Amino acid sequence: PTLRHPEHWCRSFSHFIAQCLIKDFETRPSVTHLLEHPFIKQAHGKDTSLGQQLSVLIREQQDVGNRIKTRHERINTRKTLIIESCPDDDLVDLEVLDEETIIAHLQRRYQELQIYTYVGDILIALNPFQNLNIYSPQFSKLYHGMKRSTNPPHIFATADAAYQSMVTLSKDQCIIISGESGAGKTESAHLIVQHLTFLGKANNRTLREKILQVNPLVEAFGNACTAINDNSSRFGKYLEMKFTPTGAVMGAKISEYLLEKSRVIKQATGEKNFHIFYYIYAGLYHQGNLKKYRLPNKTAPRFVFILMQDIVSSKLYEEQFDAIQDCFRIIGFTEEEVNSVYRILSGILNTGNIEFTSTSSQHQSDKSEVPDSEALDNAATLLSIGSEELQEALTSHCVVTRGETIIRTNTVDKATDVRDAMSKALYGRLFSWIVNRINALLQPDTNICGMNVGILDIFGFENFKKNSFEQLCINIANEQIQFYFNQHIFALEQIEYQSEGVDASLVEYEDNRPILDMFLQKPMGLLSLLDEESRFPQATDQTLVDKFQDNLRNKYFWTPKRVELCFGIQHYAGKVLYNVSGFLEKNRDTLPADIVVVLRTSENKLLQQLFSSPLTKTGTRIIQLSSHKLFNYSKCVYACETTNMRRQTVASYFRYSLMDLLSKMVVGTPHFVRCIKPNDDRQALLFNKERVMVQLRYTGILETVNIRRQGYSHRILIEEFVNRYYYLAFRAHQMPQGSRENAIIILQRAKLDNWVLGKTKVFLKYYHVEQLNLMLREVI
Ligand code: ADP
Ligand code: MG
Repeated sequence: PTLRHPEHWCRSFSHFIAQCLIKDFETRPSVTHLLEHPFIKQAHGKDTSLGQQLSVLIREQQDVGNRIKTRHERINTRKTLIIESCPDDDLVDLEVLDEETIIAHLQRRYQELQIYTYVGDILIALNPFQNLNIYSPQFSKLYHGMKRSTNPPHIFATADAAYQSMVTLSKDQCIIISGESGAGKTESAHLIVQHLTFLGKANNRTLREKILQVNPLVEAFGNACTAINDNSSRFGKYLEMKFTPTGAVMGAKISEYLLEKSRVIKQATGEKNFHIFYYIYAGLYHQGNLKKYRLPNKTAPRFVFILMQDIVSSKLYEEQFDAIQDCFRIIGFTEEEVNSVYRILSGILNTGNIEFTSTSSQHQSDKSEVPDSEALDNAATLLSIGSEELQEALTSHCVVTRGETIIRTNTVDKATDVRDAMSKALYGRLFSWIVNRINALLQPDTNICGMNVGILDIFGFENFKKNSFEQLCINIANEQIQFYFNQHIFALEQIEYQSEGVDASLVEYEDNRPILDMFLQKPMGLLSLLDEESRFPQATDQTLVDKFQDNLRNKYFWTPKRVELCFGIQHYAGKVLYNVSGFLEKNRDTLPADIVVVLRTSENKLLQQLFSSPLTKTGTRIIQLSSHKLFNYSKCVYACETTNMRRQTVASYFRYSLMDLLSKMVVGTPHFVRCIKPNDDRQALLFNKERVMVQLRYTGILETVNIRRQGYSHRILIEEFVNRYYYLAFRAHQMPQGSRENAIIILQRAKLDNWVLGKTKVFLKYYHVEQLNLMLREVI
């Protein structure tokens, strides 16, 4: 697509050339040759300023190339032992370290299309909002097995580091991608999977192909167009790629979290339903199959809320439908299964079109009925259930009192609620089934006990004009991820200092633990209070707000005076105002037993399966894990009882999910990718300083730079240190032992100050490493 925009294409191309110059400057053509290249000449012809920019860029890059070249020549023999750090690539290595400098630095890099920057071992990724030609297999090769400093920062380098440490240390890894909605998390996750599949070359080519289809398929069902992002993930995803001990990919497994089911029945203005509805509509239309799936061809169903014309004329939807069909086929779904999926989806769309009217009579004032049975009949046929039974389950319900079953009628409002609850349940369970089926199809077919790299792509922090229960859950999840990040970057750092006997007083950071406590504590945390209130049938939005207000007395919670039925939370990422209307209902998420009974009678095998058991995931596993693996995180894990899973509320299930996620994450070594959104207009090359500053602040990047810098950013095992730098104090043939004494001799000869010798490691400042390497080059 960039070819259509020569200016973008040229930048990407020059970027690529620059990469080549840096990587392999000797064998590449000279800059003059490059400028003579017809592509570049063409760009000159179209836009001279661009041509000039390009020459400057190339010349600059050649300078860098030359600098590196001389460096390489001088240290050629010992180069594998030397940590090379290009001062440009890592914020920790900046000379001046304040917000302004960091922002200016990131801005310059962004303008040069260097979207990736390191902060020590963390990768910052700025969304380029344009396609860059830096993700081809050549780039995967370029980053394969390389030291981080060999190439400019890149998402492949992070994936590679995780893979290499998994193979060499035989330890599970996890890559945690965070950032606001639209910051580039999902794209980053795709790129990581791409590089990992490249690295984990299995003999089995089809397996690789299958794994590459997982994300597109799951995202068709779990992503939607929102006001912020055309492909916004409406669920959290943890993808584990499984490898053999030698590093060949052997399978994959996804866990999904908190699908935003309410989107099925209602979308905010300007937003859309899950992608799959549009894809199948367009696809089935073009196949001439709308009739088969009983979908109207004049007015699109209510749930998709779009003009029929827009669906059928969209080439994109049609293409995506074909792509999804391919995904299903490649991953291994049977035709029958795919057909059942389409029938259920069409069934949901028809269910949404069922209307009710009131038929009050003298005897019964609250009765509803379905005046036009077309949608009802269609839904029933597609779901392979009886139309009358469905109508009955929608318009009435059974109550058992004193052993007697009484049938009560539903009002129009109640019937509508039941209809919507049924649609949400159908979609939610279908989604979970697809995920489970993928897992079964991608399960390793060997008993080898391998290792895995997990990739967490969870919905980002959200703050809209109107925030509801979904936003609350999403933001709590982000709060938890931030806590995990803090633990690793700051708290564990502190622990390492202490265990090595090094002064830890330098480490200070914004701890969001009190906010997490406010949400998760039992019995007085916000979620527990919500559950308690959800148990009272008479509870109202007002009683809920009052309950919060009475019990949550801390600086992170407040109720605004002028806005009714709202409460505010001071999240780590900013203030958010939540509107409680619908909280109780959303939390109860009840599906009437009458509906379950009818759906269980379906002749559709898949549907039977979806409703054959209460589809809840037990928390038992989490509890078992919590006593063992989670001990380090015991402070952030809140025990949950496993009783009464049938009456589980969304809040309590959410708690389980969070802990389940955490239990998966803590077993692996974490790698962090922080995605940053440079502007809200999705514009390429536009860098909004304020917006970037805010994100850097709340994600703790500035503190991280400080910690990495003020603290000892480089820690090298004593033995390795001696092995690496003994040239500075000993003769080459002496080969001294890797002892403390020898390390001290080297450090003293090198005349470094402020270093610290821990129990097993040498703690060095960022600039020490530069100094040591310089000295080493002098003596070699
Ligand atoms: P998030 O998952 O954080 O909400 P996405 O990953 O969906 O955000 O990114 C939003 C959009 O930004 C994508 O649809 C894509 O257009 C663009 N984008 C993000 N990262 C990249 C990238 N590395 N290269 C090109 N475009 C990107
Ligand atoms: Mg996403």
